[in-house]
Amino acid sequence: MAKTSPKRTHVENDRTGLDKETVKRAYLDHLFCMQSKVPSSATKWDEYMALSYTIRDRIMQRWLHALQDFKKKDPRTVSYLSAEFLLGPHLENNLINLGQKENFREAMDELGLDLEKMIDQEVEPGLGNGGLGRLAACFLDSMASLDIPAIGYGIRYEFGIFDQRIQDGWQVEGTDKWLKFGNPWEVPVYQSSVHVKFGGKTRVWYDEKSNYRVSWDADQEVLAIPYDTPITGYKSDNAVILRLWKAEADQSFDFQSFNEGDFFGAVENKVISENITKVLYPNDSKISGKELRLMQQFFFVSATLQDVIRFHKKVRKTPITVFHEKMTMQLNDTHPSIAVAEMMRLLIDENDVSWDEAWEVTRKTFAYTNHTLLPEALEKWSMPLFGKLLPRHLEIILEINYHFLNSIRKKFPNDEGKISRMSIIDEAGEKYIRMAHLAIVGSYAVNGVAALHTELLISEVLKDFYEMYPEKFSNKTNGVTPRRWMVASNPDLAAVIASKIGSEWIKDLTKLKEIEQYADNKKFKKDWQEAKLSAKQKLADKIKNKYGIELNVNSIFDIQVKRIHEYKRQHLNVLHIITLYNRIKENPNIDIVPRTFIFGGKAAPGYFMAKLIIKLINSVAEVVNHDPDVNGRLKVVFLPNYSVKNSQSVYPAADLSEQISTAGKEASGTGNMKFTMNGALTIGTLDGANIEIREEVGEENFFLFGLDAKQVYELKASNYIPLHHYDVNHELQKVLNMIYTGYFSPQQPNLFHPIVDNLKYSDEYVLMADYQSYIECQDRVAEAYRDQDAWTKMSILNVARSGKFSSDRTIREYCDDIWKIDPYKVKLPEHIEEAGAIMMC
Ligand SMILES: *Cc1c(COP(=O)(O)O)cnc(C)c1O
Repeated sequence: MAKTSPKRTHVENDRTGLDKETVKRAYLDHLFCMQSKVPSSATKWDEYMALSYTIRDRIMQRWLHALQDFKKKDPRTVSYLSAEFLLGPHLENNLINLGQKENFREAMDELGLDLEKMIDQEVEPGLGNGGLGRLAACFLDSMASLDIPAIGYGIRYEFGIFDQRIQDGWQVEGTDKWLKFGNPWEVPVYQSSVHVKFGGKTRVWYDEKSNYRVSWDADQEVLAIPYDTPITGYKSDNAVILRLWKAEADQSFDFQSFNEGDFFGAVENKVISENITKVLYPNDSKISGKELRLMQQFFFVSATLQDVIRFHKKVRKTPITVFHEKMTMQLNDTHPSIAVAEMMRLLIDENDVSWDEAWEVTRKTFAYTNHTLLPEALEKWSMPLFGKLLPRHLEIILEINYHFLNSIRKKFPNDEGKISRMSIIDEAGEKYIRMAHLAIVGSYAVNGVAALHTELLISEVLKDFYEMYPEKFSNKTNGVTPRRWMVASNPDLAAVIASKIGSEWIKDLTKLKEIEQYADNKKFKKDWQEAKLSAKQKLADKIKNKYGIELNVNSIFDIQVKRIHEYKRQHLNVLHIITLYNRIKENPNIDIVPRTFIFGGKAAPGYFMAKLIIKLINSVAEVVNHDPDVNGRLKVVFLPNYSVKNSQSVYPAADLSEQISTAGKEASGTGNMKFTMNGALTIGTLDGANIEIREEVGEENFFLFGLDAKQVYELKASNYIPLHHYDVNHELQKVLNMIYTGYFSPQQPNLFHPIVDNLKYSDEYVLMADYQSYIECQDRVAEAYRDQDAWTKMSILNVARSGKFSSDRTIREYCDDIWKIDPYKVKLPEHIEEAGAIMMC
C-alpha cells in the first residue's frame, strides 16, 4: 500500500473562488452567459452586470450555507419591519464587506477595466424618502456585521423615490425606473408567495365547541411574492435577508371573473392588484391618508406575518403560543403598526388561539420606534376608510381599545380626559384610528431615536402613555454604518486613519479615539488636510463635469443636504448667504472668507413652500454666482437628485455641516452623524442628536446657536411676534426686502412673497428669532476657518470622538435592552468552495 497520499491539484470553483485568475474567468463567463457579450461588444452596463453576478455568486454560496445553519440552530431572531429601506448601491459595499475590493480592483485592472467606473454604473434602489429609510438600511448592515440573527421585511416598490431634475430653478419630478435594466442582487422566491386579502365583510360562526368565531370574507385577494436580497456584513458570514414583497394578481381570483365572462374585470383586477407595490409615497414626515397607502402597509405586514408564522409552524416543534420566545418584530414607525391587529387576527381566526393568549403573544412580539414629534406626521386613518378595507381589523382594534380603556379606568379612575386623549380612536370629530396608540398598546417596548426626542415624547406627546407604562419606554439614539459612510465613501480619510491605528475601528468605531493622540502631530495633520482637500476636489470635479460650475476648493465647503422642509430651515441658510452678499455689495473690498454653499434634497411633490425654497436657492445662486463684485468669493450650488449614491461624495467634502432645524423638531437626524465622521465641523441647534454630537466632540469643537427646545416652546406660548425682529434688525430687514421686491426674481417680482410673508407674520419655525444668533455664529465659523491649523485639529477631534454614532452601537443597545438577542456566529464548512460546488449542482 502506498504511504504517500495522492497529490491533489486544487482548482477553485468559478462560483466561489477568490483567486484573481478565477475572478477574471468567472467575470468573462458571466459576461458571455448572462449578458451574451464578449469584452469587445460589452456596454458599461453589461460589464457592471457581469461583475455583480460574479460577486453575487460568492455571496450566495456563503449565504445559503449560513441559512442552513440558522435553520438547524434556530436562534432567537429579530424581524425589522419597515415600509422603507433606502439601501444605496450594493456592489461596492459587498466588495468591502467581503474584504475583496482591492483583489477585484486588480482583477478588473488586468482585464483593462476600471472598477470605480463599473461601481458607478449601479442604479440604486431608492426605496425610501430620507432618514427613516436610510436608518433601516444602516441597521441591516450593522445587524449583519454584528452576527445578529435578523431579517428585514418591506415593500419592493416598482418605482422608488422620484428622480429630481432642476428646470429653470424649479424641482421637476420624474419616475424612478430602477428596475428597468434588471436587478442582479435580488432573487424571487415564488414558492414562498402568500395571499393577502382586502375588503368584504366579516361573518360570525360557532365552532364544534360552540365557541364564538369570526371569519373574514374578503372581496379582493392579492398575491405577495417575496424578493430576497442578501445583506452582507463586514467580515462576517452572517446571513441577513432583506425580504421585499411585490404584489401580483392572484390567478384563481382572476379566473373566477374570467369564467363569469368578465374578461375586462379580470384584467382590471390584475391592474388594481399590481398597483399596490407600484410606487413609494414621496412624503417625508407627513401622512398622505390615501387608501392605496393603507393597502401598501397592510399588504406587506400581512405577508410578513404569514411568512413568520408559517416558518414557526414548519421548523419548530413548539406551539404558536410561544412564538414570541423565538422572534421579536421591530416596527419602524407606525407604518407597519397594523401588524398588531393582523397578528391577533391570524392567531385567533386562523390558528384557533384564544383572545387572551393571542394578546399575550402579540404584546410580547412587537416593539415600536417613534420617529417624529411633528403633529402632521402622526399617522391616523379615517375609520370608515379603514373599515371598508379591513373590516375584521377594525373589529379587533375596537376590542383591543375596549380592554385598553378599561385598564386605564382601573389605573386612573375618573379621568375621562385621559380616556379621550389615550383612546386608540380619536372621536373628536370624524373618527380616526391613531396608529401610534395602537402600536404602543400592542408592544412591549417603545423608543425614541435621540435623547432629547425621547425626553419630549415621554414629557409631552406620549406623556399619558409613559405614566401608564413607564417600563416600556427607552431611548435608542440613531447611528450610521461606518462601512458605507466612511470606508466606501471616504477612502482617503480612511487610509489616513488606518496609517496610524490600523483598521479595527471599522468594526468598533469607538477605537477612533486612538487618533486623538495625533491631533497635534504635524505630519498627521498635513495628511488629514490633504484627504479633505482630495474629497473636496473630487466633488468639485463632479460638479464641473456635470453642471459646468467651477468651485474654489480652498473656500469653506458649507453644506446642507437633506429633505427640503420648513422645519429643517434651508431658508435660514439662504438668509445668511444674502447677508454675506450684502456685506460684499456694501464694501466690495471687504476681507471675507470665501465660501461654497452646497444644497441638495428633494421636496415632497405636493409641498408648495418646500418647492418654492428650492426655487429661492437657485434664484439666489443665479445672482450671487454671476455678480462681478462677488468675484468668486461666494458660490451657491444646488445639487439635483440627492440620493444615497450622490451623497457619498458630498459628506466627505464638507468643512461645515448645516444642522439648523428648529429645536425640538428633528427627532434625531443621521446626516449630522455622517458629516461628523467625515471631519466636518457642525453649525447647529440643540436639536435631535446634535446635542449628543456636541457632548461627544466637546462644545469647543461645535458651533452652537439659537434657541433650545424649551425656549422655542416658551416663545411660541408667549405671543411671538416675528415682525419685531424685522423692525429692529437692519441686516435682516434688508435681506427680506430684497427677496420680497424681486431682487432675485426680476421677471416675477412677487414670486417669493409667500416665503417672506410667512416669516414676517407667522414664522412657525422661528427663523426670525434665531437669525441674529445664526449670523454671529457663522461669523465665528469664518474666523475659525482662517486658522487652518486649529480648524484641522477640531476636525480630527470630531472624527476621533464620533464612535458613539456607529449604528453598531445602536443595534447593540436594541439587542441588549429591547430584543434580548445574542449574536450567533454562523458555522460555515471549512472548504466553502467545495461544498458550494456540490450545492450549486
Ligand atoms: C442620511 C440621509 C438622509 C438623512 O439626512 P438628515 O440630515 O438626517 O435629514 C436623507 N437622505 C439621504 C440620501 C441620506 O443619505
